[in-house]
Amino acid sequence: MIGPVELSAKIRRLAAERNALILAHNYELGEVQEIADFCGDSLELSVKAAAAEADVLVFCGVRFMAETAKILSPGKTVLLPVPEAPCEMADMAAAADLAEFKKKHPGALVVCYVNTTAAVKAECDLCVTSGNALELVAALPRDREIIFVPDRNLGAYCAKKTGRKLILWDGCCPVHQRLTPAMVERRRREFPGAPVLLHPEASPETLALADAALSTGGMLREVKKMDADTIIVGTELGILHRMELENPGKRFIPLSSQAICPHMKLIRLEDVAESLEKMRYRIEVPEELRRRAELPIRRMLEKNLNF
Ligand code: SF4
Repeated sequence: MIGPVELSAKIRRLAAERNALILAHNYELGEVQEIADFCGDSLELSVKAAAAEADVLVFCGVRFMAETAKILSPGKTVLLPVPEAPCEMADMAAAADLAEFKKKHPGALVVCYVNTTAAVKAECDLCVTSGNALELVAALPRDREIIFVPDRNLGAYCAKKTGRKLILWDGCCPVHQRLTPAMVERRRREFPGAPVLLHPEASPETLALADAALSTGGMLREVKKMDADTIIVGTELGILHRMELENPGKRFIPLSSQAICPHMKLIRLEDVAESLEKMRYRIEVPEELRRRAELPIRRMLEKNLNF
């Protein structure tokens, strides 16, 4: 068995041979984040995937993220190092159910969170991430109904902040749903004066007690600017790795030490090495579906809201 240093060297060598770019989500294991060429949130990773000149994208995240990269870069080989890395939230919306739901709201614009399958994106008009949802939802035409799928929490947050009325799908992220107001109150008692940052996938009741609601990319930028030396972080624990690396003088307290997404912890260094060695597991999206799913993502990236 080879150690982590040799494994990292092997990955870098294979990545160079394959002209591969390794992308990792902020929730991935620290060792995987460290070997990646780029770490980020869903929006940052989408932008990077769209602009990448590499022949191969190794996507260390969950399946919908790798699928999004393939939708944007059909000519590239997109690899997901473990064959099944689902997102429970994405799996709460099926394309056939959304198609039925749309019939009840003819003429409505359909906005999907990026945490959706390609088949669901293909049913939608606009894709958003937690990093740009407020800006894009606020700018939608005023004379149209808006369906928001699948995260009822992010949808409710957008509705509250933008004043827009959204028809919400009943999905959520189980990891963020488990962050409760009682946890915020307890941490505030334990660390008086420490600001609380929360991800907008948390419930409205919990979000109401936060100092700021931010995507993971937004949190990473914000904590660098903050004067506080202790900051309470309400999202998946994987983000603490980069926060601690990038802010050596500051202390980051997880809102809950149980906030772990098991699907984001499936990929290990060995899987990344095998993925590059055997060029597996390839993500494919049928071309007709890919073209339909690309439209809402391109609209998001280009901020094109002409429907
Ligand atoms: S943290 Fe939640 S939204 Fe993110 S991949 Fe895991 S289940 Fe999906």
